[in-house]
Order: sequence, then C-alpha cells, then structure tokens
Amino acid sequence: MTDLQDGQGATPKRLPDRFMAWGRGLVDKLSSTTADGVEADEDDYIRRVARELGVHPILTPEDLKYQGVQPLGDRHRDLQKWINRVGGGNLCIRIRPADSTGVQGCWIITDKPASPEVETVQNLLRAKGWEVEVHPAKRSMVASAMDRDLALSPTEVEETFRNLLRESLRRNASDIHFEVRGDQSQTRLRINGEMQVYSLANGRPLPVAVIYQIGNYLFNRLAKRGARQFVTNQPLNAAAQTNIDDVTVALRFATAPDIRGYDIFVRVWKPDSDSLTLEELGYSLDQQRYLREAIAKPYGVIVFSGPTGSGKSTSLTALLDSQTDNDRVRRKIISLEEPVERELEHVTHVSVNAIVEEGGWKALLGGLNRWDSNINVLGEIKDAETASAIQDLATAGKLSLTTLHASNVLSIPTRMEDLGVEHKLLVDPNFLLLLVNQRLVPELCPDCKIGLGKRLDDLLAEKRSEEGPDIARATKLHAMRRFSDLSRRFGGDWQVRGPGCETCDGTGIISRVLVGEMVWMDDDARTFIRKRDWGGWRHHLEGSGWRDIHHHALEHVRAGRLDPVDVERLVAPLDEPEAGA
Ligand SMILES: [Zn+2]
Repeated sequence: MTDLQDGQGATPKRLPDRFMAWGRGLVDKLSSTTADGVEADEDDYIRRVARELGVHPILTPEDLKYQGVQPLGDRHRDLQKWINRVGGGNLCIRIRPADSTGVQGCWIITDKPASPEVETVQNLLRAKGWEVEVHPAKRSMVASAMDRDLALSPTEVEETFRNLLRESLRRNASDIHFEVRGDQSQTRLRINGEMQVYSLANGRPLPVAVIYQIGNYLFNRLAKRGARQFVTNQPLNAAAQTNIDDVTVALRFATAPDIRGYDIFVRVWKPDSDSLTLEELGYSLDQQRYLREAIAKPYGVIVFSGPTGSGKSTSLTALLDSQTDNDRVRRKIISLEEPVERELEHVTHVSVNAIVEEGGWKALLGGLNRWDSNINVLGEIKDAETASAIQDLATAGKLSLTTLHASNVLSIPTRMEDLGVEHKLLVDPNFLLLLVNQRLVPELCPDCKIGLGKRLDDLLAEKRSEEGPDIARATKLHAMRRFSDLSRRFGGDWQVRGPGCETCDGTGIISRVLVGEMVWMDDDARTFIRKRDWGGWRHHLEGSGWRDIHHHALEHVRAGRLDPVDVERLVAPLDEPEAGA
C-alpha cells in the first residue's frame, strides 16, 4: 500500500464553510438515527439536500464508480478491493460545490472508521485534492441505505454514461451493448471484434434501472439526428457527437426489442483521429502498390469485399488518405457513407440517409450525376439502386470506390451481377479496376501468447477426467495435433492465444490484423469473367504466382502473429490445397 502514501503529502484545498457546516449537520443526524422507519427518510433527505445544493449523493458502492473515482488508474484496484470487502457497511457522500471553485470534498460515514481499508480510500481521495472526513455510523442505517434502488439524477446518468464511454475508448471498444432481460441485465463491449462483459467495480452489472435511464438520456437528450423518444418496444436509430477529454466522439445508437426486454447498441468512434496508413492496416507491399496504382487511375471501380467487421470502410478511408497533397488539390472527392467514420479534410462527406429520407434514391442519383467530382465513394453495393449508381458513375468516366459482401475475391463479379450490374459492363475494360477481399483477424498478445508445442504438451499433461470421456479436451487435442502437423508442413513459429495478461486486458489479443487478397483486372481476367469460368480463373492466377487470402493469413500464422484457430474461424481452413501451393 506504499504507493498510496503519496496522497497524504498533498495539501487539501479548503471547502467553503457552508458545505462543511451542512455536512457536519447531516453526519450528526445520520449517526443518531436508529429506528427503521426513520432510515428511509434519511436516504430521501440526502438526495433532497444533494439536489438543492447541486451535490452528488453516494448511497451505494456503484455510485462510487459513477462519481469519477475511477480515473485514479491502477490505484482503483485498491478501491475495488475495499468495496468488495466492506461494501456492505459504508456510506460515502461526495460534495461538489455549486459555485464551481473546483474544490471537492467527501464524508465517509462508516461502521469501521479505523480500518485500514477506510484509510486507503481517504488517501486515494486526498490524492485527488479532495477534503475527506471520516465519521462513525450505525450499521443498520448504512445497510438500509445500501438496499435502495438506484434512481440517478439526470446529471448522474450522464456521468455514468460518460464514464462507460471513457472506459470503452480506453479499451478501444467499437460498440457498447446494453442487454435487459426482465430484471436481469448485462453490458458488453466489442473489443477487437470480440464481445467482453463489462462490470462495475464491485463485479456487478449496470442495474436495469440505470440502463433504462441511459436509454432515455441517449435518445431524448443526446441525439442530434434520428429518433428522439426512447421506447423499448420498437427498433430505433439515432446519432450524436460528444466530447470526452477534448476528443470528439461520434456515436450511433440503436435499439432492438427482445421478447423478454430490449437491447441498446452504441457504436463508438473518433471521427477526428488519424486514419491508419495502408501499411499499418496490414496490406503487404504488393497489395499497397496495387491500391496506390488503382487510386491514381482516372476512372473505373475499386471494390472491397468481406463480411461485416472486415475493415472495408477503414480501408476506403486509408486509401483516400494515402493520396499525395498534389492529388488532393487536383481531384474532387465526394463520399457517400453511412455513417461517416472518419472525416477527411479533402473529402466532401454526404449523408446518404438525410438525402434519401427527403427525396428518395432519385434525389441521391440526381445529385451524384450533377455534382462535379473525380472520385466517388459509394459506401456499399447492396441493392439494385446502388448497383445502378455505380454503373452511372462508371459510364460518366469517374473513379468509384465501393464495398460489397462477398466471400472471396473471385466471386465479386458474380455478386455484382446478382445485384443488377450488367454482365457486359463487368467485362468492359473501363469498369472494374481492382478487386479486394479481406478479413480482420485478432492479433495475439506478444506478452502472453503460447507456442503451439507448449500448448500441446500442456493439454497432454492435463489430468484426464475420471467421469468418462472428456469431449472438450479430446476436441482441443485433435485440433492442436492437426495444427502441429501443419506447422511442420509449412514451417514457422506457430503460437496460440494465451491466458491473458495486463498488456491485453486479460483478453489474449491486442489488436486486429488485416489479411487479404487482390486481383488486378486485366484482359485475362475479363476473358474468364466473359466465359464465367471461375475455376479456370483461379487456376490461371495461381499458375502466375498469385497469392490468395490463405497465403496472407498463413504468413502471419508462421510469424506467430495470428492464432491458427482464429484464422480457420474467420478466413478458411489452413490445410486447403491452395494454402500449401
Ligand atoms: Zn496478454
């Protein structure tokens, strides 16, 4: 606990006298309360006085976290331990003066005033420059206050959400999911593509009542576009922007009714942050060269494909951002994305939803034809309308960038035809330029990943279950043996996901790596498309040294960067013949 002592040296700022007097009066009143009937009034009294003075009451351990104690960083762990150990017996009231002198104070009212835990908390709060007083309280009174349902003030709801948002940004979460099922709730964060449960400092989930209040806050108060009235029985969409520690944060929120409750989804991103370069994204040198060549062309279509969450729009942004200053001046770029994930200075970002809501697709297509542009970004080809927009732009001699859901690069032409692009256009040399197919695969944490050989040894050493065959273990063993064989065949230092450590926040992964395949459209490619000879096309490409997505993924597996289990789950089996070719 020595690391906590530094706070003691700090001189606490003086709290205005009127707050000190109020606090002492309140403490006296609370300490003298014994009868059960009076206790409810005390709780109410705290809230009422708190409201009048612009003060934040802390009545439960959860409140401690909402009230901004969390930014203490690592020392927060000690506070958490304290709440877990004596959480049933403490009451803390924080004071924030309405005159905004920046001075803050806290009374800890506890049945264990002399305990080392309480001393720890005192030090923590004093380190923040707070004035702290500890007062003895009767156990029954405190226990009663702990059982109250949470009913937060509007300011507290906002603060709760902002703390969650801060935590999400710190952990690089892309989405927050609130899930309410009857009187049970769960909050999860999507980090590096995977869902992680979010708990309060005491290990409990955000209460149902608080999630409902957050829903109200998001739609009724924060939303700038979309639905402005929170209801839980129908799907809603809305968007907003806010600031967290001087960083602009864009939010898009939606709801889904569940038969037992509802979900609230919040997508979180930083529109002003620097976009990743093509290299940082993980494209190989050859792939970067293809992309740069394609974006320099005056007309044609560049198509990025892959499932949801494969980084397609991030790639579009990186590609636009890779242009030289000269290109930025020379060419006019109009982007139709929904939502706009990164705002680029040299790009006109048009909100598709706003235009389509007003005037329908005709208005949008009319606009596209009238707007004088060189490069157009059309978020996604998903229906006949977008397909026809791409055709119009191409025949008007403009360069287009777009995305598509397709499972491999050679199926892009078929997929486009399914959506309504004419076959004769697909084989037109002025149309398709470059086809890309990609996935994002979790990157192993360098500090806790485990060598495949060691993982296999550990599994073999594990004591067999005495209650019959252990199917889970047998399945794992089988998979690891298979990978072990493959690693001998392909070579390299194969690693798998470890138990988690401080570096990776206990998840075993630190980021995501892009793996991809590309086809540059030439006369040969168009011949195969004309004949619809997909097998022949693949054979031809492989014969000329083309490297598909398996190769790219396998390279990373051999370097110990990706877990073969993830690659097989997200890309394709590693032992497919073409992977070894
Ligand atoms: Zn780790």
